[in-house]
Amino acid sequence: MASLLMSLLYQFDQTQWLAPEALFAQQARQLRVLFAHAAGTVPLYRRRFAAAGLDPEAAVTPETLQRLPVLQRGELLSAGNGLATTALPESHGKRHAIETSGTTGGPVRLYGTEVTGIFWRACVMREHLWHDRRMDGKLAAIRRARPGAAMAPLGLRSDSWGPASGAIFPTGPAVLLNAASSPSAQLDWLRRERPDYLISLPSNLLALARHCLEQGAALPGLKQVMAVGEPVTAVLRDLVRQAWDVPLKDSYSCEEAGYLAMQCPEREVLHVQSENLLLEVVGDDGRPCGPGETGRVLVTSLHNFATPLIRYDLGDRAEVGAPCACGRGLPVIARVLGRVPAGA
Ligand SMILES: [Zn+2]
Repeated sequence: MASLLMSLLYQFDQTQWLAPEALFAQQARQLRVLFAHAAGTVPLYRRRFAAAGLDPEAAVTPETLQRLPVLQRGELLSAGNGLATTALPESHGKRHAIETSGTTGGPVRLYGTEVTGIFWRACVMREHLWHDRRMDGKLAAIRRARPGAAMAPLGLRSDSWGPASGAIFPTGPAVLLNAASSPSAQLDWLRRERPDYLISLPSNLLALARHCLEQGAALPGLKQVMAVGEPVTAVLRDLVRQAWDVPLKDSYSCEEAGYLAMQCPEREVLHVQSENLLLEVVGDDGRPCGPGETGRVLVTSLHNFATPLIRYDLGDRAEVGAPCACGRGLPVIARVLGRVPAGA
C-alpha cells in the first residue's frame, strides 16, 4: 500500500503542473476506458450512449461530454444498485458498499473499490503535503458522530491520524469529539488536548470561533484549521484568523466520489483533483461555466468501475475561478455555494 501511494503521489507531483489541455488529454484516455466499461456492463449507460448517438468506445472529446445526459441524484436513488456493474475488472480489487448519509430523498447506494480507496488515500496525503503539515503532530477532529458517542469531556483517542496518513508516515495521535458537544465543552476539551491541527465542519467552527472570541480564549499550539463537509465563507476565514491566528484550509469532497477539490497551497481557492475525477460546472443551459460564473457541479469518477458515475449532478453549486497564480494547471473553483435550493 505504501509503495502504491508513493508512486501515485509522485505522479500527482507531475500532473498538477500540466496545462489544462494536457490534463484533459490524460483524462480523456481514462474516460474512453470507463465509458466502454460502463456502456458494456450497465444497461442504463448502454441506453444513454445509444440515445445520444455516441459510440462508447470512440475517443472522448469535450463534445462527447456535452452530449451525454446528466445523471440526477434521484436516478441514482431509484436505481438502487442498478448502476453497479455486473463485471468488475479483477484489477480493481474487491468492491465495498457506500451508503451516503443522505439529505433530500434518503441515502444513495453505490460501490467503491480498492482502486477508489487508493485514490482517496493519495488525496488525503496530497492535502497534508500541500499544506506542509507535521505528521507527528496531534490531530483533533470535531465531527458529527452517533448520538452519545465521543462526547465531551473525554471524546475518543487513537494512536494514528488514520489509514491514509499512517500508511506512509508514522503519525502522531488523533483525538475525536462529537460535534453535538457544546461550544464551551469543545473549548475545554481543546485546551486540555492542545492539538496542532483541528478539523471540523464550517458551521461548528463558526460557533466555536465566536465562543472563543467572546471568552477571549486562545488555543496555544494550534497551527491550522481544516474545514470539511460544508461550504467555507469569507466570514469564517476571518473569524478563524481573529480567534486563533491560524489559516483555514478548505477541502471539497463527497461520499459518492471522494476528493473533488482542495485548497491551493498558496491561495485561498480550490484546485480540482483532476487525477481522481472530471468535474464540470455547468449553467442552466447546460453549457460549461467560465471564470466568475456559477453553475451546477457534475462529477465523473475516473476510477470507479464498480458503480460508474458519469456526469452525476451532486446537487451543489460552485463558482468557477480563473487559472491560479501558483502555476498549477488543475482547474480552479473560486467557491462552493452548497446545495441547490429544492425545486431550483
Ligand atoms: Zn493554486
